[in-house]
Amino acid sequence: MAVQAWRDNARCVGMATEIFFPESLTEARFDKALSICASCPVKDQCLMLVIELDDVDDRWGVFGETTPKQRRHIRYELQRGLTVTQARKKCANVKR
Ligand code: SF4
Repeated sequence: MAVQAWRDNARCVGMATEIFFPESLTEARFDKALSICASCPVKDQCLMLVIELDDVDDRWGVFGETTPKQRRHIRYELQRGLTVTQARKKCANVKR
């Protein structure tokens, strides 16, 4: 599979993987990754790459400024016909 060119512009390039896959079970465990993703110029591409996975395989990590639980909700909203932007907005307050 070809590596997508947009990945060159990702804010997380060179950062520790553990930031995005925290082992801690605290409520705040995703905060650092989410704050990095918030200003990433390719967060929609990143999100859609993971959204295309089967949700059964998408249980860990922060991608595209979303947690696994938020992505489950976003998948549902996309299937209902919302755009990525609309689905993000609607699921922004889903508890992590
Ligand atoms: S949105 Fe994706 S590509 Fe961008 S910093 Fe977050 S994990 Fe990395």
